[in-house]
Amino acid sequence: MGEAGKGDLRLVALTKSFESFTAVHPLDLTIPQGSFFALLGPSGCGKTTTLRMIAGLEEPTGGRILIGDSDITATKAYQRNVNTVFQSYALFPHMTVFENVAFGLRRRGDKAFRAKAQEVLELVQLGQVATKKPTQLSGGMQQRVALARALVNRPDVLLLDEPLGALDLKLRRQMQIELKRIQQEVGLTFIHVTHDQEEAMTMADSIAVMNAGSIEQLGDPATLYEQPRSTFVANFLGQSNLLKATVGPGSADGVVTVRSHDTDLEVVREHLPRGASEVWLGVRPEKLRLGESGGPNHLRGVVRDVSFTGVATQYIVEMPWGQELTVVQQNDGSARAGLGENVTVSWAAEHGFALDASQAADAGAELVDHG
Ligand code: ATP
Repeated sequence: MGEAGKGDLRLVALTKSFESFTAVHPLDLTIPQGSFFALLGPSGCGKTTTLRMIAGLEEPTGGRILIGDSDITATKAYQRNVNTVFQSYALFPHMTVFENVAFGLRRRGDKAFRAKAQEVLELVQLGQVATKKPTQLSGGMQQRVALARALVNRPDVLLLDEPLGALDLKLRRQMQIELKRIQQEVGLTFIHVTHDQEEAMTMADSIAVMNAGSIEQLGDPATLYEQPRSTFVANFLGQSNLLKATVGPGSADGVVTVRSHDTDLEVVREHLPRGASEVWLGVRPEKLRLGESGGPNHLRGVVRDVSFTGVATQYIVEMPWGQELTVVQQNDGSARAGLGENVTVSWAAEHGFALDASQAADAGAELVDHG
């Protein structure tokens, strides 16, 4: 136990059941001090319950919560050095922005309240509106006041519960960049709960993908995206084309041949689960190319839909066995295909990943919120 960093947050077999329903199965997780961590998953997967247990707002039915070596499982919420920023800002409407932020410090008799509040207001770029009332500010600015009010306490852990959910898309994107900058500047541990995969990937150093009360996969955004270990992660974190395939013999150069719909395809051996014979061979839409690439992996099909999305064009290509593959091509001046055209779809062996075929190919796909 002594190996944990001084301020790491550790969840040890943390569990929550509501009567006969288990919302969070025994969860083991270490969140390094100073990291930006995301708990990502569809509605009902247990992420808010986990967050509420860390905050002390929900009592675990089992397990422990530690910050460094100090066990806070039985500590009251207000005695934990943990603050939460909610989607609803819960600001005091009759107080100015400055008074809202300084409130907690003044109540505790902190003589440096003025300097501390001003400093954190500068950090969230609200120094100019310190004397305004919250209602005079936009939603995005109010959310920053709520953030400043939490940060001014310099909590060991800052919890963010879908904090950007009430903002429109453009503002949300701006705030994601802003939140990441602020986290890097203050160096505190941020734990962010969201069902928005893009939001998690934009901001977090590490993401725990939750499904039905358990962590499905934990990793940095690129690894989760490039090497999902389940169809749920492959579908929930971005889009995947999954081809049913049978594993054949390997070759010396670290590549394995799999047979899919009467076609031999190659996949890098380390992207194949050990011992699997039937797999889903996954390829991300942007890894597929229209046209021959000179490599071993190509399939022929017919273009059934073309959607121009600005930076890229999305094609739906129907395979002879009826499956539709999604191909996303950057609009970089390369040739485009038209509706009804016969095309070749190709990809590099290292861009494929294989998942055990005993899992449902569409796990998690219906849960993605494209809003
Ligand atoms: P959302 O984003 O919708 O809040 P979530 O992933 O945060 O989803 P939780 O709020 O943690 O999920 O809920 C997990 C499960 O626990 C859900 O099925 C929910 O219905 C159940 N649950 C949560 N609180 C209670 C409660 N007080 N009593 C009974 N069941 C509960």
